Amino acid sequence: MKEQNYNAYLIAQKQFDNVAENINLEQAAKDILRQPKREIHITIPVKMDNGITKVFKGFRISHNDARGPAKGGIRFHPEETVDTVRALSMWMTWKCAVVDIPLGGGKGGVICDPREMSLGEQERLCRGYVRELSKNVGPVIDVAAPDVMTNSQHMLWMLDELEVIYGGHYPGAITGKPVGMGGSLGRNEATGYGVIYTVREALKALGLDIKNTTASLQGFGKVGLYAAKLYTKLGGKVIAISSWDIHDKKAYTYRNLDGIPILEIEKITNGYGTINKTEAIEKLGCECLDGDDWIKQDVDILLPCALENQITKDNVKQISKQVKMIAEGANGPTTPEADEVIKNRKIFLIPDFLCNAGGVTCSYFEQVQCNMNYYWGLDEVLTKLDIKMTDAFHAVYKLAMKKDLYMRDAAYGIAITRVADAVRLRGWI
Ligand code: GLU
Repeated sequence: MKEQNYNAYLIAQKQFDNVAENINLEQAAKDILRQPKREIHITIPVKMDNGITKVFKGFRISHNDARGPAKGGIRFHPEETVDTVRALSMWMTWKCAVVDIPLGGGKGGVICDPREMSLGEQERLCRGYVRELSKNVGPVIDVAAPDVMTNSQHMLWMLDELEVIYGGHYPGAITGKPVGMGGSLGRNEATGYGVIYTVREALKALGLDIKNTTASLQGFGKVGLYAAKLYTKLGGKVIAISSWDIHDKKAYTYRNLDGIPILEIEKITNGYGTINKTEAIEKLGCECLDGDDWIKQDVDILLPCALENQITKDNVKQISKQVKMIAEGANGPTTPEADEVIKNRKIFLIPDFLCNAGGVTCSYFEQVQCNMNYYWGLDEVLTKLDIKMTDAFHAVYKLAMKKDLYMRDAAYGIAITRVADAVRLRGWI
């Protein structure tokens, strides 16, 4: 994966500024929406297993809560920065707005590497994080969820700590909890499936049959895995997957031109998306290429499902002529220069905050179920998710067609307009 030379916050602001200008947003709305409303920076002391206390740095940022409580995941990553969290909190606002759920945007992060921490250390970090934030989060203020390298167990530890502090049960305070503990069925699948619901609709719009398409994927965490599963179930063929190798500390692209058997490769992938190299080569007949090679493949669809800033001005030229569509499963995978190239080449883009909104949509369903204290079956969750994603896709596509807009600009237009309307209705400007 590329080094993080780009500042995601500056990129998020630039994207916002361009669209704000085009839709003639008034200055006060621009000033409110181009930066977060609130930022909290914390230190979290954690007693490590060796008896020594290590102090971690963490953040929780609410970008906007005009449409509802701030909502967004918490990332654990050694290269986390406050600017990345700021950008991600902004993208959460647009994400919730574009799928029209009554939530705002927020994000959290801790600079740490959970892959190198014991479970006990991770639990103490989770508890310490929410202890520090207990007055500033909660079901009607700011609702956390999993993101890069955090999972349902982390969420439950956080919720448990919060509930001790609050002195009661508040399952809507955090989403992405384990099923049976206030979690929703389908939450694991939700982001990846949502990506493919939008891909399915986009292919239909372009007059392409999914069964005749191939895809190359970057990132094999939860998003990439479930996107690959649904895509192959619908008849598509994944021929390349790039994933981070935890042992070699670099990424590899595994390629099998006959199609990678997703259920088989899942069995040799660990919880952080690292694929067992030897088994991929020997058992699944994959070639092992450089980590960056996923982008060069002769496929119809590229699915960046890892981190931000992966498609840059340097590698955008390597995108094959065959590529017709890029579906951004990750948040912010494309830098502005690369975006310009994709736009000019007329590759159909499904922008991140639309494409990967399935996760937060299911989080919203989880809150609804927690409030009712009645939980839906898997089919019900996935059907509702499909409807939300399909509707959101078509609203954006319709605007893009009507005004001859790039899909990212159309999605931004809808989202920013909805949030600006909420800000005005509340009388903030
Ligand atoms: N972390 C996911 C995202 O970036 C989900 C957020 C949530 O469920 O609140 O969309």
